Parts: sequence; C-alpha cells; structure tokens
Amino acid sequence: MTNNKGIFPIEKFQDIETPFYYYDSKILDSTLSTIIKEAGKYSNFHVHYAVKANANPRILKLISSTGLGADCVSGGEITAAIEAGFPADKIVFAGVGKADWEINTALDNDIFCFNVESIPELETINEWATKKDKTANVAFRINPDVGAHTHAHITTGLAENKFGISMNDMEKVIDMAQKMSNVKFIGLHFHIGSQILLMDDFTALCHRINELQDRLEHAGIAVKHINVGGGLGVDYENPNEHPIPAFRTYFETYAQHLKLRPGQEVHFELGRSVVAQCGSLISKVLYVKEGTNKKFVILDAGMTDLIRPALYQACHKIENITSQAGCQTYDVVGPICESSDVFASDIQLNQCRRGDLIAIRSAGAYGEIMASGYNCRRLPKGHLF
Ligand SMILES: *Cc1c(COP(=O)(O)O)cnc(C)c1O
Repeated sequence: MTNNKGIFPIEKFQDIETPFYYYDSKILDSTLSTIIKEAGKYSNFHVHYAVKANANPRILKLISSTGLGADCVSGGEITAAIEAGFPADKIVFAGVGKADWEINTALDNDIFCFNVESIPELETINEWATKKDKTANVAFRINPDVGAHTHAHITTGLAENKFGISMNDMEKVIDMAQKMSNVKFIGLHFHIGSQILLMDDFTALCHRINELQDRLEHAGIAVKHINVGGGLGVDYENPNEHPIPAFRTYFETYAQHLKLRPGQEVHFELGRSVVAQCGSLISKVLYVKEGTNKKFVILDAGMTDLIRPALYQACHKIENITSQAGCQTYDVVGPICESSDVFASDIQLNQCRRGDLIAIRSAGAYGEIMASGYNCRRLPKGHLF
C-alpha cells in the first residue's frame, strides 16, 4: 500500500482541531477548468453547480467565480448561492416540496427557473407570482422512468421514485401552465440519480428525451430549455489516479445522443463530480482496540461528520497519513453510539497508533454539508488549502 503523506501538507495540520474537512484548492481549480473547457466546446451547454453537494461558503465562492450557475433545492440554498455571488439569472430551483417562503425567496430574487414537480406546486407558484406581479419561468421535472446503475437509495428517475411528473401527464401540465397568467413554460427537467459511471445510463436518458421531444413537436409545443440534471460519478477507489471525473465523455455523450431542435439550450446540474475529489475528512486515531477477531481503529470522526458509509454503504479510500509502518488489517469506526458508525471493515492500513492522522478520501461531496450534531457533537469545520 502506498503512503500518501506527500499529498497532504501535514505540517499545517498540527494546530487544526480534528476532525476537519481538508479541501485541496488545486484539485478544485483543475476540476472547474476541465468542466469549463469540456462544456465550453458546445456553445449551448450551461452548467449549474448543485449546491447541496457542498455549500461551504469558500467553496461556493470559488465555484461562482468561474461563471457556473447554481442548482438549488431549498430557499436556504438560494440565499447561500446569491451570497456567494452566483447571478440570480443562472439559478435553477428544484425540489419535490417547495415551501411558500422558499417560492417567495426565489421570486424575490428573480431566479432563472423553477423546476416544478407537481400540479399543486405549479398553482402555488402562479398564485405567489400573481400577488407579486411577476412572471415565473417554469420547467417541468419529468420522471423519465430510466434506471441508473447506482445504489438504490440514490436513483431518482424510476416511476416508483417520489420525484417529478409522470411522462403521461406531460402535455397536460404544459397546457395548464400555458393557460396560467403568471408562469411561463420554458423547458423540461430530468435527473436520474447520482454516482453514475456508466455513460449508457445517460444515453438512455437522451433517448427518452428524444421521444418526449417528438411527442411535444407533434402537439405543437415549443421547448427552449432541456435540463438533464446531474449524476456523473467519481472514482472513490482510486482518487489519486482519477482526481478529475470523466467530463469530456460525459458532455460528448449528451452532444452525440440528444436530438436538439434549433435554438435549444442544454443545462446540466453537477454536484458530486465537481467537489468530491478535492475533499478529505481528516481525523485522529483515538484508540486502537483488539477485539475478539478484529482490530478496531477508533477515530475522533464518526457518522455525524461523514454519514455516507452509514447511509449509502459508501466506500471511501482510507489512509494513515502519519505512519509508514507495515500494513495491518483493521475495522475503522467512529465514536458514535450506533452500530452503523463504521467507515470500513477489514481494510489494510499502515500500522495505527493513538494520535495518527487518518484521511478519508473523496469526501468533498455530501460530506461536510450532511454533518449533524447527533450526540451533541460539534460540527466539523472545512479548511481550504
Ligand atoms: C442532487 C441533484 C443534482 C446533483 O447530483 P450529483 O449526483 O451530485 O451530480 C442535480 N439535480 C438535482 C435535481 C438534484 O437533486
């Protein structure tokens, strides 16, 4: 096993309280410039960063400074995005249950578009827009009934999932919107899931969108914007070999398979692929405990700091960044009073001693933002290096 001491500025970690999130601004920068270069090959492609993956203010500022838009799923995210400098006319707002105050926040800020997920939501947006004498751009989130080869908890585009409007109702809801006074129908929205590594899944979505576009064309309905959501996956096993996700192939897949009508614009909502690889959770070994059949490394970080392993059975690469001693087999666990507070079982680590620093890699997405205060724990801080 390689020792990755070299990639972390360990000497700067001495005064920082563990656990904390380490963000590598070089990796984030090169990820962002790759996105801008690859999406920039297609003049009608627009990328929105999915704020829910990581809303650390410094990360948000860095991303907004590159000119990307923002994809928000709550009123709080809209406020955070605007504070970080994302222009309101590049903000899209999705979510299956938008509260009235959130709709008002979006209207007051004149965001680009609501991704609407039900008829009662459409009616509510129209009511509030009417009261404010505004016109709200709306796209309908259509459930494409396309599966994604990812963990069952993070598929979103199957008919059984709670998200979106059924394809059968598409023409009906568009017709309703077109008859309403204060909403303007501008496009279709999709999102099939997350941590998707098989481009065939995105191709399947393209084919579905092509079918739906043909249907709309027959019905004489014009669609200006196609939002294909996000979902591009990252290499959790080999973050050093693949620090930058496959953006070129990803955008090429859409360019090749989506049959666009003249003047159509394509929107992407990327979260995980933008921020996962730049982040690591840095934690300290509290104790090494000899169990009956196992050796446990007990960390000062737990599922309250990084819930992905407990919530999605996610596997993160784990490294001892202090020790160079020979490898041993360990279960790596947190201090929380829950049996699911386990980061990994039976993995090889350089021999661990109390006080060693442990890096849990690829933790920049759905890490810090999902931290909780369960067990009255302090929230981990994020540090950008
Ligand atoms: C979560 C989410 C995304 C981002 O997904 P990633 O897998 O992180 O790229 C995009 N769009 C919508 C609507 C989402 O809910």
